Amino acid sequence: MSLSKRKLEIYQKYFCTTLSPLYEFDPGYGHTATLFTQRALGQNGEHLIFRLLCPCDLHWKWEYHQGKKRMITLSDAYNCPKKEAFRVWWRAQLLLHHGAKWKSMTLADAVHHIFLRAQRREYMGERNPGMLYVQDCETLLGTTPRRIEVEMLDAQGVLNDVPLLFPSQEILAACQELTKRKLVQLSGMILVPYHESFRFPSTMQHTFAAMIEEVLGWPNGNAGDVFLHDLMKKIALQTGWGKGEDVFGASNMPDLEAGWNMQFKKKWLAALHPSLVDAQVLDKARVLSSISTDQWVCWLKGCAAEIAAV
Ligand SMILES: [Zn+2]
Repeated sequence: MSLSKRKLEIYQKYFCTTLSPLYEFDPGYGHTATLFTQRALGQNGEHLIFRLLCPCDLHWKWEYHQGKKRMITLSDAYNCPKKEAFRVWWRAQLLLHHGAKWKSMTLADAVHHIFLRAQRREYMGERNPGMLYVQDCETLLGTTPRRIEVEMLDAQGVLNDVPLLFPSQEILAACQELTKRKLVQLSGMILVPYHESFRFPSTMQHTFAAMIEEVLGWPNGNAGDVFLHDLMKKIALQTGWGKGEDVFGASNMPDLEAGWNMQFKKKWLAALHPSLVDAQVLDKARVLSSISTDQWVCWLKGCAAEIAAV
């Protein structure tokens, strides 16, 4: 089934957008996935973004709420298997073009190559077109995601082991190398251009993010990243620190050397707040949130002094 022209017009009008078809994928089972480009206005002017639509996206009903007409979608377009078939096919084409080159590169360089093409608005088979996740690179480059069993309650309130996939250590190390080379940084699990700013070494970031997210149940999106982003911005504003090196030195960025890592876990965390290393204190997010910017700055100056003294 091709996309209905009439419904597509209504869709564009409703979302105030103009879509131009780029590629129509119809493997013959009557459910066409179409890749569109859409012009969007960003910080650097107008640019193209991609949208992947199938008939599920155009399956809706109207509801009226306080005099306003709302589109309620009736199909799970995000998880449509036919769309995934399109993505699998598209990635296979990308592999035909670039696979041999990626194999000849280091993993970090291959990730960077994919990132640069995505930055140039080439569709790299992303799950969310226009947002390149570590997982998208992993799928293209063939590294094996980590499978972790997590206990979760189902709709009936029964606790089940649910397998979840997380990026492999291999691909995360490749991304970290690109951060070290100041080319790419991760926002959550999304690859974005490196932006020089004050930041904690990655072990610290992960430790604080995990504390913030633990009480919310896990996994739970980017609550830890949002907290850290705000915190690092406040610290930078107060101190004028422009990069992590200003506090931790070049050899401890993007991550602390092993000795300092130990120092962070054994001494610095407790110095920041004793409750952070107290196993009896379960809500460490509340403790972290209660620390003032002044206290953070004072603590960081203490860490910097220790490092400088060696
Ligand atoms: Zn569909």
